[in-house]
Amino acid sequence: MKELTCIVCPRGCRLKIDDDLNVTGNFCPRGAQYAKDELTNPKRMITSFVRVKNRKDTVVSVKTSTAIPKGMIFEVMEEINKVGVDAPTHIGDVAIADVLGTGADIIITKNIE
Ligand code: SF4
Repeated sequence: MKELTCIVCPRGCRLKIDDDLNVTGNFCPRGAQYAKDELTNPKRMITSFVRVKNRKDTVVSVKTSTAIPKGMIFEVMEEINKVGVDAPTHIGDVAIADVLGTGADIIITKNIE
């Protein structure tokens, strides 16, 4: 039996999951899925910054479009650190499509004119 806190929404349900992946303590189905994923294939969203090439000392905030496997966080961060974008940037622009084949895009989260 493993105990964990659901981080899918602010309610923060305390979950218990057994070796057969039976989940209790979840208020909604998303918590059960979260607990199963945590045991079998944990994933995380990433937020970071990308260099703006045509603006001196400027970066723009980015995030993954979906959660990526936890074990790939450092590799994905290396990819994010390699790229640069040109201003203007717009919320929702894709800085990296399908980063490292994860199915997640690196999305810009700030407008820079
Ligand atoms: S189980 Fe559902 S209600 Fe509870 S924290 Fe997770 S997402 Fe929120």
